[in-house]
Amino acid sequence: MAIKYYSTNNSTPLVSFKEALIQGLAPDKGLFMPVEIPKLSLKEIFAMKEKKYWEIAFIVAKKFLQDEVPEEELERICKEAYDFEVPLEKVYEKKYLMRLDRGPTASFKDFAARMMSRLMQFFLKQEGKSLTILTATSGDTGSAVANAFFGLDNIKIVILFPKEEVSERQRKQMTTLGNNIRAIAVDGKFDDCQELAKQAFVDKKLAKLSLSSANSINFGRLLPQTVYYFYAYSKLFERKGEKAVFSVPSGNFGDICGGLIAKNMGLPVKKFIIATNENNEFPKFLNTGKYEKLTPSRKCLSNAMNVGHPSNLVRLIALYNGQMDETGKIVKMPDMKKMNEEIFSISVSDKETRQTIRRTYNNYNTILEPHGAVGWFALQHAPEGVTTGLCISFETAHPAKFPETINQVIAIKPNLPKSLEGLEEKKEQFKEMANDYAEFKQLLLKK
Ligand SMILES: *Cc1c(COP(=O)(O)O)cnc(C)c1O
Repeated sequence: MAIKYYSTNNSTPLVSFKEALIQGLAPDKGLFMPVEIPKLSLKEIFAMKEKKYWEIAFIVAKKFLQDEVPEEELERICKEAYDFEVPLEKVYEKKYLMRLDRGPTASFKDFAARMMSRLMQFFLKQEGKSLTILTATSGDTGSAVANAFFGLDNIKIVILFPKEEVSERQRKQMTTLGNNIRAIAVDGKFDDCQELAKQAFVDKKLAKLSLSSANSINFGRLLPQTVYYFYAYSKLFERKGEKAVFSVPSGNFGDICGGLIAKNMGLPVKKFIIATNENNEFPKFLNTGKYEKLTPSRKCLSNAMNVGHPSNLVRLIALYNGQMDETGKIVKMPDMKKMNEEIFSISVSDKETRQTIRRTYNNYNTILEPHGAVGWFALQHAPEGVTTGLCISFETAHPAKFPETINQVIAIKPNLPKSLEGLEEKKEQFKEMANDYAEFKQLLLKK
């Protein structure tokens, strides 16, 4: 029996993975979640130790998709999507950094975008349909999606980014491709971009455009983001029964939701550390049980995490038997006790972020960029006892994406990965727009 997906707002009939992937957002503005999370046995997880990344992706994805995607097709998709390395770097005893930055656009967003684009293509071909994908980005989703979907003839991409809050390099990665990729600079914040996109998804007048989402509101993005948790654990565990701690630099909480789903599938996790920048609405909520979104969000060095109201919080709360609606209102309180047992969360200032980049370089010769530094700081400041065993902190972007900060703090120029070479000379093309839904709608309806 194929796994069904419900909407967190509970007013949408159950759908298949295909429908959840193609719709993106549920019509009742909730997010799709699996009714039942499939399980992997410890034996299956331990056996991943000898496997390649794409093979692990295939094993995990098959649990969700075996009734909807033929096995050979899924195997091919995983193999094609994951043709780059995933380094696990030992920083000191039992403390590791997983570098998720070796994909074609040098951030962890490549993991999801590359698998999602291939799955979408597969299903669209089956149906003979075409789609327009609307994506709000705080910097890295836009480029990963643009790269993953570039040149596909049945899918158009429209990217919304906050004009003043993406780096030069991030912007160029989205605005220099052309073809089926359109980029729009919004005079606003990431949360505004996300709001514009969400409004468009439920606007009946735009139905003819067949809009979908490649943001982490799409369940299709979460599935690939469960895989690297299994990968890291299986490569690094030394004895059966061992549990791992994961520190995850978080903004919209798609990455951490991937981890929580992995745990629900059976991955031995001791604790998740949700590391945020100065946008501290979640650590506050975890401490007090009161949720207040931050509007506007705070502008920090780790710009991809400048989120004042994480979309996927709705999913996190659902995983702890609560319910939150799309405005951030808690309809049913989640199990706060269990949440506090399984999750530690801390807000990291820009000052602490810089300090971490400096110290990690001086002490371990390890180069971190601002997002990874937020994760690493949080790991160093978890309560006593949490981090005694195996710990894995994520580096979610390549240091070369943030040359200004890194040069300022440790006076070196990080080497440019091949994928980012030659960007400077390329010609940019993008529209500028006020934070205004009417104007956005006009733009979408034009051709
Ligand atoms: C998107 C992003 C994050 C935050 O991930 P979420 O899934 O939104 O929590 C962290 N670091 C980088 C570099 C990113 O691009």
